[in-house]
Amino acid sequence: MNPQDDQVPAVRRPDPMYTAESAFFWEAAERGELMAQQCQGCQQYLHPPRPMCPECLSMDLQPTQLSGRGKVYSVCSPQYPQIPAFDYPLLTALIDLEEGIRLLSNLVDVELESVQPGMPVEVCFAATVGGRAVPQFRPEGNK
Ligand SMILES: [Zn+2]
Repeated sequence: MNPQDDQVPAVRRPDPMYTAESAFFWEAAERGELMAQQCQGCQQYLHPPRPMCPECLSMDLQPTQLSGRGKVYSVCSPQYPQIPAFDYPLLTALIDLEEGIRLLSNLVDVELESVQPGMPVEVCFAATVGGRAVPQFRPEGNK
């Protein structure tokens, strides 16, 4: 335990940066929902948010709520340099969502040694310093 821990706010994670295309994603996270664009031309889900479908070139992309379930594709635990806004050990993972898109996120409520590729995970949300939220993932059923 760092002696300065009681002097820093409990929430230190920085707010996400909104863009015209990504605002719906972050606003959904604030509501505790995970969303992605779904192309109305070819029905494919897209992430990160963008103005045009790379498959069929449709610009009719609708924000759609996702199941929030997926599987770990890969995981790592960055060691250096540590960023003060994050708690360590920090697990950074690629998550393959049920809807067929891959999301870069953090894994929580699990130790690195226990994570296996293909491990089922579900979305949860971390508060950010400005009162917003970002999606992260934990082992499925680990409330
Ligand atoms: Zn498309």
